[in-house]
Amino acid sequence: MDKVLLCNFCADDQYAKISKYLLEARKGKVIEGMRLKAAEIGAEELAVLLPTGSTEEFGPEIMVYHGMESMITANAGAAVEVIKGKLPRPTVPDTEVKLSDKELTVISPEGAYVLVQQKELGSASKVFFINTKNKSEVVEAAVGSKLSEVLEGQSVAVSDRKGILLGGIRGRFVRAGELSEYTIEQNSLYDSITFFEKEDCMVEELKKLAQQIQGTSCGKCVLCREGSLQYMTIVEEMTAGKAKMTDVDLIKEISEIIEIGAYCTFGQKMPQLITTGLDLFKDEVEAHIKKKNCPAGVCSAFASYCILPKQCTGCEECVDECPEDAIEGKKGFIHMINEDFCTKCGKCVDACEEGAIIKVTGARPKLPMKLTKVGKF
Ligand code: SF4
Ligand code: SF4
Ligand code: SF4
Repeated sequence: MDKVLLCNFCADDQYAKISKYLLEARKGKVIEGMRLKAAEIGAEELAVLLPTGSTEEFGPEIMVYHGMESMITANAGAAVEVIKGKLPRPTVPDTEVKLSDKELTVISPEGAYVLVQQKELGSASKVFFINTKNKSEVVEAAVGSKLSEVLEGQSVAVSDRKGILLGGIRGRFVRAGELSEYTIEQNSLYDSITFFEKEDCMVEELKKLAQQIQGTSCGKCVLCREGSLQYMTIVEEMTAGKAKMTDVDLIKEISEIIEIGAYCTFGQKMPQLITTGLDLFKDEVEAHIKKKNCPAGVCSAFASYCILPKQCTGCEECVDECPEDAIEGKKGFIHMINEDFCTKCGKCVDACEEGAIIKVTGARPKLPMKLTKVGKF
C-alpha cells in the first residue's frame, strides 16, 4: 500500500508552542527531517497539518492540510479526524490509520528536527519553554542535561516563586527543591516550566488550568469527559466561595479512577496537575473554602470595597463615578459604600485622590453605620 508521512503542527501544548517555534525558526530543518523519515519508512508522499488559518507554504511537493489545534491530534487517528473537519478523537496507538487511502505515519515537527540534528551532529537537543509572568523564552537544551542547570544557564531564579508548573496541562506542580530530579528528555511531557508569583492566586490559576483541561478533553471517553467537567466545576466553585472540603476529597477520588481508565495519554496524565496543585497549595485552597478568603486578593467573589473613614474628606468626587449609585454621603460627611448595590467594579478607587477607597479581601475595617461628619468617627 502507498504510504504518506504527515508532519503535524497542530498538537502543541499551549505552554510549549514547539511546533510554532520550529515553523518560524527551523522550517528548512523540519522539511529535511520529513524527507529523512519518508526515506526511512518508504513513504512516497509528504504532507503537513497546519492550524486552521495558517497561510504557511510548503512548495509543490508537500500536501498542506488544515485543522483545529489540539494536543489530542498527536494521535494519528485524531489528526485524520481534524483534517476531515471533525473533533480530534484518538484511536488506539499503533492501529493502522489511513489518509486518502494511503498508510499514514505521523511525525511531529520536533521529531523531524531531531532526525536532522542526529544526522548532522550525532546528538539532539530538546526545545523547552520557560514561561514567566511577562514572557516566554525558548531554549534548545541538550538532552540529558539537568533542568536546574538549564534554568541557571538562562539566569532564571527558582526561589521565591509561588508555584512551579512542569509541563503544561499534562504536567504537574513541583517544589523548587524537586527540580534537581528532572532532566531534559526527548519524549518527555515535561517540555515547559511555568512560574507563578506571590501576587497570583493559585486557586484561580488552577481554575484556568481546569478550564483548559475541560476544553481539551475530546469527550470520547466518559471518565475524562465527565471528570474534567467535575474538576472545572469544583475549582470554579472554590474561587466563588461555594466549594466544600469534601469536594477536594472527591477530586482526589475521581483522579485515581481517571488515571487508570482514561483512553489516551492526555486523560491519564491531566489529573496529576489538579491533584499536585491541590496538595502544594493546600493552605490557599482551604482559605478559599473554609475562610471564604482569597489570600492573594485576586478572587473577586471574596473582595469588597470600602471607604476608610479617617481618610475620607467628604469631597463627593467618588459619587458620580459609581455607575450603580452605591456610594452614599454628602458634602463634609464620611462617604459609605452600600454593599447591596456595589458590583465590585472598582471604578471609584481612582476617583478618590485621598486613597480612601480600598479593596478588601479579608476582614473589613471598622466602618460608620450611619452618616457621620468628617473628623467625628
Ligand atoms: S482521555 Fe480524554 S482526550 Fe483522551 S480520548 Fe478520552 S475523552 Fe478524549
Ligand atoms: S471617598 Fe474619597 S472621593 Fe469619596 S468623598 Fe471620600 S475623599 Fe472624596
Ligand atoms: S466598586 Fe464600583 S459599584 Fe462599587 S462603589 Fe465603587 S464604583 Fe460603585
